[in-house]
Amino acid sequence: MDLGSMKQFNIKLLEWYDCNARILPWRDDPSPYRVWISEIMLQQTRVDTVKPYFKRFMKAVPTIQELADISEDRLLKLWEGLGYYSRARNLKKAAAAIMQEFEGQIPSDIQSLKSLPGIGPYTSGAIASIAFGVKAPAIDGNVLRVMARITANKGDIASPRIKKEIEDLVSQILTVERAGDFNQALMELGATVCLPNGSPKCAECPVQALCKGHLQDIAAELPVKAKKKDRRIEQKTIFVIEYKGNIAIRQRANEGLLSSLWEFPNVEGHLSYEESKARLKEWGITSCEIMPMGTSKHIFTHLEWHMIGYFILVQSIQEYNNFIWATGEEIKKQYSIPTAFKAYSRLINDK
Ligand code: SF4
Repeated sequence: MDLGSMKQFNIKLLEWYDCNARILPWRDDPSPYRVWISEIMLQQTRVDTVKPYFKRFMKAVPTIQELADISEDRLLKLWEGLGYYSRARNLKKAAAAIMQEFEGQIPSDIQSLKSLPGIGPYTSGAIASIAFGVKAPAIDGNVLRVMARITANKGDIASPRIKKEIEDLVSQILTVERAGDFNQALMELGATVCLPNGSPKCAECPVQALCKGHLQDIAAELPVKAKKKDRRIEQKTIFVIEYKGNIAIRQRANEGLLSSLWEFPNVEGHLSYEESKARLKEWGITSCEIMPMGTSKHIFTHLEWHMIGYFILVQSIQEYNNFIWATGEEIKKQYSIPTAFKAYSRLINDK
């Protein structure tokens, strides 16, 4: 892209953004704290999903000090349903680091931002540019797609070399005056016009005349992405066990997938009715009714859980083993059960 085209691109994109930017709760007051929290919530998560979480979080935890002091249980409860819970834990760790190392102020330079837990190249660029007006690129999946199409780049956007090429180009196009708006405009274009999966809406695009992908009629084929490895599949049997109005839950290990969150007792594999009865016996449950709850699937980044579930109504129990027995109300208020179990927590929500 030559200098003249870069300038044109910058002007046209910002003009379009000024008229078309979506009204989002974090945009009316882009303070560093609000930008940081929204950017972390938006990682791997859709804007519409994030909106109510962001508002609730800001009300419950309005300052960095309060975030540094919050209990992990309360934090995870606020995060319940957003997934990727390590994001929440890193927020708390980063808040503590900001209090200790940066006198309670979020730093504005890229290197200091990147030193904080959970903040990588993209998020540091987004915070620095949007909250502080620093001339730094913020390259996410949307930006990679848009720029690959604009420049008709046929390289693999997952490769570090192509990412670097795009980052260098965006750095050149960015201007000091409106760096944060430019980054947001580029992401906004990717989210609302230059859509993924071969469906760019080129007729509505403000930079159509500068887009090589469009001019060469190859936009829909871009970007090129190396095929991802297939996800591993795990089969599970989930037990929603009720005894005297209480439901059995247990805490997951404090490392690995969904660490420290709460779950219904479950085992590897799809257990038959008889196998389930035997397993329940091992847990001290000898007299009960077993009712099937159907199947469910949950997709993580590298893994899929294929689940079957049983509802167990217990008449008598020999020992209380390691489960916590909680009422539906207590589970709703205190325990964070990940969305992966949503199909089976429905029953509790109805109680
Ligand atoms: S012209 Fe089409 S492919 Fe090019 S940036 Fe706009 S929407 Fe994307």
